[in-house]
Amino acid sequence: MTKLEELIIHRIQETGPISIATYMQECLLHPNLGFYNQKDVLGPEGSFITSPEISQMFGEVLGLCLAQYWIDLNRPDRFALVEFGPGKATLMLDILRAGSSVKGFIEAAEIFLVEASSKLRSEQKTKLSKFNVKWIDDDLLIPKIPTLFIANEFFDALPVNQYQRKNNLWYEIQVGLKNNQLTFGLSHRPTTHPELEGRFSESMNGDIVEISNDAIRISKSIGKIINNHGGCALIVDYGDWHSLGSTLQALKSHKFKNIFDKPGKVDLTCHVDFEALAKNSGCAYSRLTTQGVFLERLGISDRANQLLKNSQPKNHKSIISAHRRLTHPDEMGTLFKVLGLYARNENSPAGLLN
Ligand code: SAH
Repeated sequence: MTKLEELIIHRIQETGPISIATYMQECLLHPNLGFYNQKDVLGPEGSFITSPEISQMFGEVLGLCLAQYWIDLNRPDRFALVEFGPGKATLMLDILRAGSSVKGFIEAAEIFLVEASSKLRSEQKTKLSKFNVKWIDDDLLIPKIPTLFIANEFFDALPVNQYQRKNNLWYEIQVGLKNNQLTFGLSHRPTTHPELEGRFSESMNGDIVEISNDAIRISKSIGKIINNHGGCALIVDYGDWHSLGSTLQALKSHKFKNIFDKPGKVDLTCHVDFEALAKNSGCAYSRLTTQGVFLERLGISDRANQLLKNSQPKNHKSIISAHRRLTHPDEMGTLFKVLGLYARNENSPAGLLN
């Protein structure tokens, strides 16, 4: 039993069952025992590997997409560049390197990072030491200037609440104890949530609905800034336009695990409900587009060819396989989706359709 599991069991013994969101929050972000505060969680040696960790091509084309948006905004002499959940800072470094080829872009950028893990914050500090970077909370206290947001595999890490329909009422699924072991149960009393109101017509008794209050709150804040000051958001993650059913999953060393296996040592995620993000943002949103199509539209194949031309033959295989992993439907090409948010009177970012 992990130390964190003992703490969670103790808490439930003292005060009763907790929501799935609270369980996820503890498992992922407990100050020293949570998953994101452990060593090397991202990358080939860690629990999972993300697109920017697969290849520089990902961040480079996203960087150029953001730089193009800045050009389309008439090159404001100040803008905020905000990344949610920057992990090992690889994506931000690739964005800044590619963006430096666009005159004036880097000079105009004020960089803000939203990162809850103190361990990853200090890694980001070291990697980005050459840049003027500020860390902020997700209440997004940033200057009132045009803002470009980026989030890769951030929203899937946010806690969700789960509700199950029973006798035409909604009950919250909770984490409780049976024989002193963690287990799922239903709240004794039915509950309500504004987001549940529209879900009766599409669900049956027994169905589960997931709601991430954090995702809704953050998308509202993003939308407000974009609508008031201009800018856009690129949100890349796995998930779909609309979610129904439980998508909660646990992953360790690239393998699926039980949700209650080794709390704090295992990654817990949910598929992102992009519709909830888009509609709650209150700003204009693009069509949900697969990562493969998005990256192809932004020219990732040209970039791969250029890298092949400039590299030693011994590196060719890894460039080709990284391109395939990022774009092919059998790999990350269709599982991952991209949503663009932008001001109502503007166009969607390059690579996405209005
Ligand atoms: N974007 C990076 C890392 C993805 S992992 C990449 O693509 O490689 C998820 C990231 O979000 C981690 O940096 C994690 O510490 C951070 N994170 C998770 N929950 C968070 C929260 N509630 N607030 C801020 N950051 C969070």
